Amino acid sequence: MINFHKRVLKILIGCACLVSTLVDAEWVDHKFPIMGTEIRVRFWLPDSEQAQKAKQAVIDEMHHINNTMSPWIETSILSQVNKHAFSKPVQVSEEFFNIIQGAIKISEMTEGAFDITFSSVGYLYDYREKKQPTQAELQSKVPLINYRSLKLDKENRTIRYLQDGVKIDLGGIAKGLAVDNSIARLKSFGVTEASVTAGGDTYVLGDNGGKYWRIGIRHPRAEKKLVTVLPLANSAVSTSGDYERFFIDENGERIHHIINPTTGKSVASVQSVTILAENSTYADALSTSVFVLGVEKGLELVNRLPNVSAIIVDKNGKLLHSDDLASPAT
Ligand code: AMP
Ligand code: MG
Repeated sequence: MINFHKRVLKILIGCACLVSTLVDAEWVDHKFPIMGTEIRVRFWLPDSEQAQKAKQAVIDEMHHINNTMSPWIETSILSQVNKHAFSKPVQVSEEFFNIIQGAIKISEMTEGAFDITFSSVGYLYDYREKKQPTQAELQSKVPLINYRSLKLDKENRTIRYLQDGVKIDLGGIAKGLAVDNSIARLKSFGVTEASVTAGGDTYVLGDNGGKYWRIGIRHPRAEKKLVTVLPLANSAVSTSGDYERFFIDENGERIHHIINPTTGKSVASVQSVTILAENSTYADALSTSVFVLGVEKGLELVNRLPNVSAIIVDKNGKLLHSDDLASPAT
């Protein structure tokens, strides 16, 4: 009896050691703050040294996107373009040129609902300080929101602004790019199972060992509640919400960070939009776009696009979705 117990104990201890070595060596689950949001990266690699290197590559990638695309960093390419592109064409990196080109394509596709020149007005909002543009400021600055004022020269890789006072901001697309770049870096280390999240933008690689990655969509008015959980594999999922950066003004209006380019004001027709797509850059830009377009036009666009799905929580808290998705059982 005693011997039997001892053997069982020995096996149990052996298993525990093995499990702890495997856990240390193979699964990385790391969170860190950057770009005003939380990053979470989870993946599997059999070699712990390689796993640490892959984790560092993701951290470096997030810093790289922040350092080149943040409007808060004076030396970023974005800040330099905003400073000089009206007086002269500014040469930029290939990556920066491509993301601007991609953003303009999304503007064309969404009839201007997505427009990175929203920032010509957007910079006048300060959500922490509860500050918003005056009526006079809106009147003078809203005409500057127009992606057609961005002139790209592909040969010389330059950007020029055709109007004085134009500003761009990549807050609606850069986190998606950071996620896609991070997934590419992980793949280069041989990773086949991973989840990378930057704020509302996630990409899940692989199928989580056949279990699927389960991605919850947060209730827009209750932080701890979920409206639904999506089982996903090899998919980007991006959510835009009016609860991420906002304040309630003296009239009781919710002033938040997604701006209607035709009015310069925050959009009130929906509370959140989730997009499923093949990559995070696209999903990120589309979630912001569909938020601006609203339920009818937004779903009409998504239903037309191949391999794109949408889940919308409208202004009354009602859940709606694109035609390709089935309603959850009630
Ligand atoms: P997301 O959470 O991905 O929807 O991104 C919201 C961010 O997109 C905001 O914080 C702004 O930086 C940016 N943004 C707001 N309105 C627009 C718009 N109409 N077109 C493009 N970007 C926008
Ligand atoms: Mg977005």
